[in-house]
Amino acid sequence: MKFDLNAIRNIVGESGVLVGTDASSRQEQIWSSKHVDAQAIVRPRTTQEVSSLLAYCYEHNQPVVVHGGLTGMVYGATTRSCDIALSTERMQSVESVDPINRSMTVQAGVKLQEVQENAAVNGLMFTLDLGARGSCTIGGNISTNAGGNQVIRYGMTRDMILGLEVVLADGTMVTSMNDMIKNNAGYDLKQLFIGTEGTLGIITRAVLRLREQPLSSECAMLAVNKFDHLPAILKTIDQRLGGTLTSFEVMWHDFYSFITEFKDHPPPLPKDFSYYVLIEAKGGNIHHDRENVEGALASVVEAGLAEEVVIAQNQAQRDAFWAIRDAVEKTVIDQPMYVFDVSLKIGSMEAYVDEVKRRLQAKFEPCYVFTFGHLGDGNIHFNIHAGKDPSLKHAVDECVYEPLRKINGSISAEHGIGHEKKEFLSVSRSTTEVQVMRTLKQALDPKGILNPGLIFDP
Ligand SMILES: Cc1cc2nc3c(=O)[nH]c(=O)nc-3n(C[C@H](O)[C@H](O)[C@H](O)COP(=O)(O)OP(=O)(O)OC[C@H]3O[C@@H](n4cnc5c(N)ncnc54)[C@H](O)[C@@H]3O)c2cc1C
Repeated sequence: MKFDLNAIRNIVGESGVLVGTDASSRQEQIWSSKHVDAQAIVRPRTTQEVSSLLAYCYEHNQPVVVHGGLTGMVYGATTRSCDIALSTERMQSVESVDPINRSMTVQAGVKLQEVQENAAVNGLMFTLDLGARGSCTIGGNISTNAGGNQVIRYGMTRDMILGLEVVLADGTMVTSMNDMIKNNAGYDLKQLFIGTEGTLGIITRAVLRLREQPLSSECAMLAVNKFDHLPAILKTIDQRLGGTLTSFEVMWHDFYSFITEFKDHPPPLPKDFSYYVLIEAKGGNIHHDRENVEGALASVVEAGLAEEVVIAQNQAQRDAFWAIRDAVEKTVIDQPMYVFDVSLKIGSMEAYVDEVKRRLQAKFEPCYVFTFGHLGDGNIHFNIHAGKDPSLKHAVDECVYEPLRKINGSISAEHGIGHEKKEFLSVSRSTTEVQVMRTLKQALDPKGILNPGLIFDP
């Protein structure tokens, strides 16, 4: 029997299936000018519908690609004309918030910002935060194990998930909606689906761990001239603030000086330093937290580690500091931009960044590199322009990824592998590791219908 879209309509209803221009007029990713190329976009409302849909697709060997908010950075949601895109856009229910248990139960299509707002209404906080908060979905965050701006204190998405409901490739529903912090009763199955980019199952619901809403928030920017002062500053501030340091972001001169050329991003500090550190601390004592931050900053200045410091005096200033760090889209110019997200030990960073820039300058003329990242987590981003010819991408990739081999770095700190980076997976994962990944894929999706070709080839 042939695969038939009418069978899908019977499962999700007529309005749940988009075909023709209703599907092809949509963007492939929110940041891309390309449009969706797929047989149909299917929009289930419930886990049961996802299950029936996958059971049917499995029976008919029909590939399925999951669409969340389409903000992912590694072409993980790209479809081919033979694929069905399964969008979670109609699975947007915040089912419950339990303030005593400090947890929230949501469907996978709920936007991150809505999760944050629902937690805040209950005096609590969901600790994942990233620039795409208004568009990305919690299902996408979980499947990419997103990182973001507060990892140094709260960890990655993995650390914020208590339970999951998932549908396997053959339609089997796995309801593992644990709502306890501790549960060592056998395998912690949710871990299989966190960070595996939708290749092992489709996340339909989640139980999220919430934290207490901090009472104070302090933000400051520091200008620094020597790279080896950065880890010393991190150590001093982290120690002095006793666990309240939430963000430690660094912008290299190339990024800061470029962004602050724009009128809407006036520079809080002069532009002639090598590095700019953005710190944020969230605490529970509105009377003493400012004093503590001032004391910690004074000690790094006295120790000669930072050249200048400015503390945000109000929310508007705090937002302006963060707006500089988040203005990544300003680095887009009239040629292809390659975005990188690498991870390495802070001790290896200075030499690594120098080597990447040396390799790029030797190959491409002119070449523009913008360097910034979540340095406290060992995570650097490069946005690179190497000329108008898009076929240069592979050579740019080599300049960034190859030096990671000898220092055991990762080609993906937080964005995942998708289709974009799989060719370089061997830089960061051994043959044995990839073989175990294949074994898991084979066990849970033997026909390979879920997000086919993602992360590694079958
Ligand atoms: C401005 C901007 C800033 C960003 N900042 C950060 C950052 O600081 N840190 C960071 O880690 N990332 C960042 N990202 C990228 C980040 O990965 C995504 O924003 C987000 O986690 C993906 O969610 P999404 O709903 O958009 O997923 P999509 O892009 O739709 O999908 C991403 C992947 O997950 C799969 N998927 C989606 N939903 C499900 C589901 N329910 N079940 C199974 N698989 C699913 C898709 O098939 C795809 O492979 C940023 C992106 C942008 C545009």
